[in-house]
Amino acid sequence: MMRRLVIIIVIGAILGLVSGDTAMAATPSQDLQAGIQKNDIKIVKKAVDELVRQNDEAAFNSLSNAAVALDGVAESTEMLWAILEGIGRLANRAVIPKITSFIIKYKDKDLGRALLSAMRSNQSLEMIPLLSAIVDKGTYEMKLECLRQFANIRIKESAEALINLLKTIDEKDRSRQELLEYIYASLNDLTRAPDKFHTNYTLWVEWWGKVKDKPAAEIIVKKKALSGDGNVDKYRPMTAAQSLEKDKVIVVRNDECDANIKKAGGKGFDGNYDKIQDILAALNIPFTLIGKSELDKESYSLDDKWALVFNCNFFMDHCCNPEHLKMPPSNKEGQVIRTKECPGTVNHINHKTELSEKTIKKIRRFVETGGYLFTEDLNIMEIIERAFPKTISKSTFVDEMTVRILPEPAAVLHPYLKYVFEAPPMAQPPAVSMPGQPSGETKSVKPGELSMDSEWQIDNQSPNIKINSQSDVVVLITSPQMAKLYKDEGAVAVTFRVVDPSIQMTGGKGMTYLPGGRVLHVMSHFGHQRSKVSEFALQNLLVNFLEELGKYKPRASKVVKK
Ligand SMILES: [Zn+2]
Ligand SMILES: [Zn+2]
Repeated sequence: MMRRLVIIIVIGAILGLVSGDTAMAATPSQDLQAGIQKNDIKIVKKAVDELVRQNDEAAFNSLSNAAVALDGVAESTEMLWAILEGIGRLANRAVIPKITSFIIKYKDKDLGRALLSAMRSNQSLEMIPLLSAIVDKGTYEMKLECLRQFANIRIKESAEALINLLKTIDEKDRSRQELLEYIYASLNDLTRAPDKFHTNYTLWVEWWGKVKDKPAAEIIVKKKALSGDGNVDKYRPMTAAQSLEKDKVIVVRNDECDANIKKAGGKGFDGNYDKIQDILAALNIPFTLIGKSELDKESYSLDDKWALVFNCNFFMDHCCNPEHLKMPPSNKEGQVIRTKECPGTVNHINHKTELSEKTIKKIRRFVETGGYLFTEDLNIMEIIERAFPKTISKSTFVDEMTVRILPEPAAVLHPYLKYVFEAPPMAQPPAVSMPGQPSGETKSVKPGELSMDSEWQIDNQSPNIKINSQSDVVVLITSPQMAKLYKDEGAVAVTFRVVDPSIQMTGGKGMTYLPGGRVLHVMSHFGHQRSKVSEFALQNLLVNFLEELGKYKPRASKVVKK
């Protein structure tokens, strides 16, 4: 009996191999369709790799048709990004004009924005005409994105294209100031010109006249690799955030258990799950650290503050008796949350650190009048749900897990996502093996390329984000895994604007800047990330938020009541 069974298995395996071979004979384009039909990301990625190697117009047609079909299908975000990344890697001179036309055709759709961001992966000379065409014909946010992408293409022609664009802009036209800033930023990035150049139109034009005939190596600076312990300030501009005043940026930690923890000899959980103050200090962003008890005082005013950054903290009922804190926790959960699991028997000191209703109102007013509020994880329950109930709320507590994060295609060019999905200049770039290629050949990621290898560590009992207003809330980052598990948008980072129409702000210069304050909420922590790339993603998100604040300063001048 056993022997017969073995024979059947062997025959089955041979048949399986044969049918496997037959499947392999399908064209990469058919493989792609099959993968999409089966909703199998592995098959899709393999087919995309094959089409990238094919590298011709037919490959572009297969990929772009598939992208059009998948656009707007929430469950297909991961497949869509794999396909767009593939198009970004097509390096055939004849294909680039097709990509250009495609982006322009879909410029008002998520698809156009998403494909343009995927083009970060193509850093060849062929990209210069594409970027120039889209600066000319794309939407405003596309123009800004193209001006940034020039800095990733580290050749002389990039600098030349930027100087040519500079010459087309009237320096005194206020509506063009932001475009000029982006051009200067990319020129600075490419050339590391002296400081006096930074925002000087005339100096740049004169400079180009002098250097244009020199060899590229004398003009374009190589990107320095980041050492192991570096932070994002080593490779990205962030002067607006770094120039904020110390007294304007307030980081809040839970200090209400400090005295009891001290009495317990420093033992026990101090109520904070994060230390954003350490991140800001490392990034040279000035701030003032306060405790929740300080913020909760009626005398503490937010009127003169610009940003409020909350550390995720435990605000619910727990026992804070120093004698009990000295005892080993009664179970695993008690180690972090001493609620009902307190190991003590008598004299529990039940303690709650939740912000008062008055403080919540104070925070709401702060945001309505141009304040910037950053929150993470549990803060959604303590602060967001109470202050802004119509925007987002907690749906359920999730289990601890590591999830792959992707940009929401509609938001990929959002200013808060700058650098978040771009490869940092690592000393050893993360190498991804290309299946089917001769062994040893790997695809290494260049700085600034679209990079989707970030994963976020989600803590046990993190509140999942429920979107209550699709029109007001912008989903920035999603996790396909979470979307599947909880049958929702899979949102892990969201932002929304809050505005009181009866308030007129006199700060907030800038043509495109809308009135009101901003909230940025993420479902993750800084301190718990397993890899540098993941922590960079979070750091960049927070830095972008503070950069915008530093750039527009909505509360810099008086808030006027209409
Ligand atoms: Zn306590
Ligand atoms: Zn107790």
